[in-house]
Amino acid sequence: MSKHNFEAETGRILELLTHSIYSNKEIFLRELISNAADAIDKARLKALTDSNFLGDDVDFKIVVESDESNNIITISDNGIWMIKEELISHLWTIAKSGTKEFVEKLQKAKEDSDHNLIGQFWVWFYSSFMVADKVEVFSKSPLDSKAYKWISDWKNDYTVEEFSAENLYRWTRVVLYINEANKDLVHDWKLKELIKKYSNFVWVPIMMREYDSRTEEEKQKEEKVMPFEQINETKPIWKKSKSDITPEEYKAFYQSLSFDWNDPLFTIHNNVEWMVSYKSILFAPREVNMYKNLSDPNLEYGPKLYVQNVLILENAKELMPIWLRFVAGVIETNDLPLNISREMLQDNSTLDKIKKWLTKKVISELLNTLKNNREDYVKFWSNYGKVVKEWIHYEYDLKTDIAGVSLFKWINTGELITLDEYLEKAPNSPLTPPSNQGGEDKEENKSNKTIYYIIAKSESEALASPYLAQFREKNIDVLVFTDPIDSFLVQWFTEYKDAKLVSITSNDIELEEKTEEQKKEKEEKQKNMKWLFELIKNTIWWEKIEEVVLNDNLWNSLWALKTPKNGIDPQLEKMMKAMWQDVPTQKRILELNSKNKLVESMKSEFDNDVKSSKLSDIINYAYMQAILLEWWELENPAEFVNLTNKFASEYIG
Ligand code: ADP
Ligand code: MG
Repeated sequence: MSKHNFEAETGRILELLTHSIYSNKEIFLRELISNAADAIDKARLKALTDSNFLGDDVDFKIVVESDESNNIITISDNGIWMIKEELISHLWTIAKSGTKEFVEKLQKAKEDSDHNLIGQFWVWFYSSFMVADKVEVFSKSPLDSKAYKWISDWKNDYTVEEFSAENLYRWTRVVLYINEANKDLVHDWKLKELIKKYSNFVWVPIMMREYDSRTEEEKQKEEKVMPFEQINETKPIWKKSKSDITPEEYKAFYQSLSFDWNDPLFTIHNNVEWMVSYKSILFAPREVNMYKNLSDPNLEYGPKLYVQNVLILENAKELMPIWLRFVAGVIETNDLPLNISREMLQDNSTLDKIKKWLTKKVISELLNTLKNNREDYVKFWSNYGKVVKEWIHYEYDLKTDIAGVSLFKWINTGELITLDEYLEKAPNSPLTPPSNQGGEDKEENKSNKTIYYIIAKSESEALASPYLAQFREKNIDVLVFTDPIDSFLVQWFTEYKDAKLVSITSNDIELEEKTEEQKKEKEEKQKNMKWLFELIKNTIWWEKIEEVVLNDNLWNSLWALKTPKNGIDPQLEKMMKAMWQDVPTQKRILELNSKNKLVESMKSEFDNDVKSSKLSDIINYAYMQAILLEWWELENPAEFVNLTNKFASEYIG
C-alpha cells in the first residue's frame, strides 16, 4: 500500500470547494459516465489496430448500481484501464495541469461569494467529492495480473492498494460512499432520471437493474437479482433528427463538450450530403469560459471527430480555423478511412472541404444572431471579438463576410456597431465628386464613403487626439480601434465593400475643399516658415522627424505627430518594439497648427533671433507634449519637468 499527500495546490482547491455552496451537485454522475464513455472510446480506437485487444470482452457498456442500505453508488466500465501510476497521475486533472490561475480564479470567486461561479468548478472527477465522503477507483488491466485501487477520503491524502481481481479482464469501477446530505441520490429511480437528463446522448449503453415491483413480502420470500436494462438511447445526438432533440438535450450536450455552464450563443446542427458527407453539431459560447484560456498557444481546440462511430480525435483542429477556436462540437463523417493518422489528416482534401463548410456555417450563424439577437451578440463580441479578428492572418476569401459580422466601437457614443451600420449613418466623403453626392441610389452612395478610424491604446487616448477635432466639429463618425490586433488588421484590411478604411491620423485629410485662395495662402505661409521648420527639425533631432508641415485642422493643440504615408502606425510600432527589441524608430511628420497663436510667436522670435534659447525651449517642450499625447515614453522626463518649471516661473515670478 502506498500513501500519498495531495499536492499543495490540489489541497487548496479541495479546501476552497468544500467550503462553498454549489449549485448543481447532480453533475457528478454525468462526469463519471463521461469518463467511462471516454475510456470506451479509447479502447474502441485501440481495437482498430490490434484485433486481440478486446479479448472475449467485446460488448462495451457502462454499469451503474446503487446500494441503498450502504449508501453506495458505483459506476463501472470495460473501456481502457488505468495502471497504478495512472491512478495516481490521472485522477487529479487540475493538479496535473498545475493551473495556478485556476486556483486564483477560484479564490476570487470565493471572496466575491460568487456561488454560481464556484458551482462551475465542480467538474471532472472532482465532482465525486461533492456527494461522497470517500471514493474508491478500481482498475484492472488485461496486461497485468495485479490490479490496483485508489482510495481517498479527499480531505488530505489518498492511498493506492493492490486488490485481487482474478475474474476480471478489463475493467474500471468508481465507488462513491455517498455522504449524509446526499442520501436521496441513492435510489435507482433517481439515478435513472439523472442519466436520462444528463447522459442520454452518450452512445455507449448505460445499464442498470430493472425495477423490482414485488412487495416487501414477496421479496422476503424469494431472493431475486433483477436483470439489467439499458437506460439511455445509444443513438448519438448528432445522428438524430433535429425535431427529436429538446433544447435541454442540446444544452446538456454543449455543457458536456465545453464545460461552459451557460447557454450557448447558438447551436448549428447539420446533416450534409453533398460533395462531402458529414453530420455535425457546433456551438458558439456567449459568456467567457473559464476552462479555456484562449490565449494559451498550446490550447487544444476543434470539434471531436468521429469516423464510422469511432472517436478518432478529441480535438480536430484540422476542422476549425484557429480564429474560431472557441467553437465546440462534434463532426462525424464516413468519408475518411478509419485508420487515418494525425499526419494524414494534415493535408486531407476531405477535411479541408468540411472545414470550409463549417467555417461558412459559423459565420452565417453569427450573422443570424447579430440580426436577431443583438444583445447576446454584443456580449459574445465583447468576449470573443479579439479572437475572431485574428482571421486577418489566415483568411482571405471570406474577409467581407467576417468583417460583416465584426463589431467596432463608435467613438461618438461608445456603442458597438457594424461597418454596414457605420456606412448607413455616414455622410458621403466630403471630397467626393459632386455628381455622386445626394443621389437617390443608396448603393451608389455607399461607394463613395469612407470609414474613418483611429487606433489608440484606449478610448480616452483616442479622444485626446488632436486629429479628432475636425471630425467632431463636422459631426463625422469615427471608429476607435483599441485591441492590440487592430493595428495588424488595418494594415491588410483597407476596404470594406466599396468603402475605404482611412486612419484619421494618416494621409492628408481635408474635410472641406479649399478655395484656390486658401490654398495659396497656406503655401505662402509654409514657404515663409521654411527656415523655422528646418530649425525645429534640427532642434528635435532630424532622425526622428521626416518633415515639418502646417495643418489647419488641429483644433486647439499646438502640433501633432503624424505617420508618413505607408508608414507603420505608432501603436503597431510600439507592439513590434515590445516583441522584437530592435525595431528602428519610425520617422514621423510633425504638423504645426497654423491657427495657433504660438506658431506666429515662434515665427517672430525666429525672425528676431535665430539662436534664441526661448525658442528652442518651446520647441522641445511642445515636442514632448506631442509624445505624451500619444502615450509614448519620454526619453528624458527630467528635462520635461525642468522646462515645465521654467515656464511656470515665468508665469509666477
Ligand atoms: P478529463 O475527463 O477531462 O480528462 P477527469 O478528471 O474527468 O478529467 O479525468 C481525469 C483522467 O482520469 C482522465 O483523462 C482519464 O485518463 C482518467 N480516467 C477517469 N475515469 C476513467 C475511467 N473510467 N477509465 C479510465 N480512465 C479514467
Ligand atoms: Mg472527465
